[in-house]
Amino acid sequence: TTHPTTKPTLTNAEAFARARNSIPGGVNSPVRAFGSVGGTPRFLVSARGPYVTDVEGRDYVDLVGSWGPALLGHTHPAVVEAVQQAAARGLSFGASTPGETELAEIIRARYSAKPFTGPGCRSDERDDDDTPPIRPLERVRLVSTGTEATMTAIRLARGFTGRDLLVKFAGHYHGHSDSLLAEAGSGLATLSMPGSAGITEATAAQTLVLPYNDLDAVRAAFAQHGDRIGGVIVEAAAANMGVVPPSRGFNRALSHLTHEIGAVLIVDEVLTGFRASSAGWWGLEASNIVPDGMGWSPDLVTFGKVIGGGLPLAALGGRADILDRLAPLGPVYQAGTLSGNPVAVAAGIATMRAADAAVYERVAYVADTLAAALSEALAAEGVAHSIQRAGTLFSVAFREGAPRNYDEVRQQDAFRYPAFFHAALDAGVSLPPSVFEAWFVSAAHDDTAVNRILEVLPVAARAAAAA
Ligand code: PMP
Repeated sequence: TTHPTTKPTLTNAEAFARARNSIPGGVNSPVRAFGSVGGTPRFLVSARGPYVTDVEGRDYVDLVGSWGPALLGHTHPAVVEAVQQAAARGLSFGASTPGETELAEIIRARYSAKPFTGPGCRSDERDDDDTPPIRPLERVRLVSTGTEATMTAIRLARGFTGRDLLVKFAGHYHGHSDSLLAEAGSGLATLSMPGSAGITEATAAQTLVLPYNDLDAVRAAFAQHGDRIGGVIVEAAAANMGVVPPSRGFNRALSHLTHEIGAVLIVDEVLTGFRASSAGWWGLEASNIVPDGMGWSPDLVTFGKVIGGGLPLAALGGRADILDRLAPLGPVYQAGTLSGNPVAVAAGIATMRAADAAVYERVAYVADTLAAALSEALAAEGVAHSIQRAGTLFSVAFREGAPRNYDEVRQQDAFRYPAFFHAALDAGVSLPPSVFEAWFVSAAHDDTAVNRILEVLPVAARAAAAA
């Protein structure tokens, strides 16, 4: 019933040792090195549905999901077929293709429609009015990574306003461009790094970092620097310091305050887009599924992960008057040899087409089931914990009370996570190798896969309690 194991080729330890000879730290992205959980990272050779298989031929139920793209599960047949067909037609042209326009249209339509499903919104309960009043994506440009999308978005915000300063929130991660690494989440949270070496003081000084979910801090910063702030970037719902959803009305208020000072609001949905719900996190707010969220709209939105279905593809979209400042129409330059790559676009289109109401309902069901079981397992062992949700995303923090910002996130018994993580891994469940990351479920997590996780959670909770 599980993924057939492949013939062992070498051990994970051998693969890691060899990798370290040629690749810094043996990895091409830091959290893969298991730095905060210890032990030997698994080197993977294949994946199917909810499973991944390592070089030793062991399979695991996967809750990393390539850090978000695998909404449908791994190697979904329709996506693989679309990729194979596109590859046979041409790997890269460096010229425009009709597929790019189609994907842009799909993203625009999906982001403006009511979510198929979400907490409190099942598809069978939807009314007929499909369309929230605001359509925030008048233009979409495709790039290859989330980092490029956010980097371009802040350049656009500065180019559009003629102002230098950028506001971000502590614990939010927007990729690894220079301006955005200050007090960032994701791997920097995992490695307890406040920022990165190699970023000039001049650049760092142009980023103001504010505490999340704190409108007083926003008002104070805007009062002091308002006329110099060009852009404000925020994760639609924070999910790179663990999941920390915005407080009720926070995004809407942030949008209004940002417009008051004449700045551009960039909502980063690289992680949440078409995952938190079928219309991203904003769709939940715009449709009042998240209360007090209606009546605002982002100026720019960044996407990645799900829209590329596992291939390198990301996008920025938003108001035409801002996006049309991009070259060739306007003075803000951005380009990419592989932007809109036809194979990646084919994967994206196939993924978005396959991601129907049934997919989001399954994803929501699996998230509900696992979040509840996780809490129950930890409670049974007397482990202080808090589970936070953002649509179908969730994560655990080892503390009483839900953390609302990065300072609170860091006040937890993070030392419990390595034991929890390794107990699960030993039992065949692959969790994110950091407590500061969301758990990514997929529509391919069938009852067999879910039951395997349900069996393992009490074992992992016991290990966490003993840590
Ligand atoms: N923004 C957010 C919210 C993200 O979660 C990420 C990646 N985890 C990025 C931007 C950067 O995307 P990429 O890794 O594709 O550069």
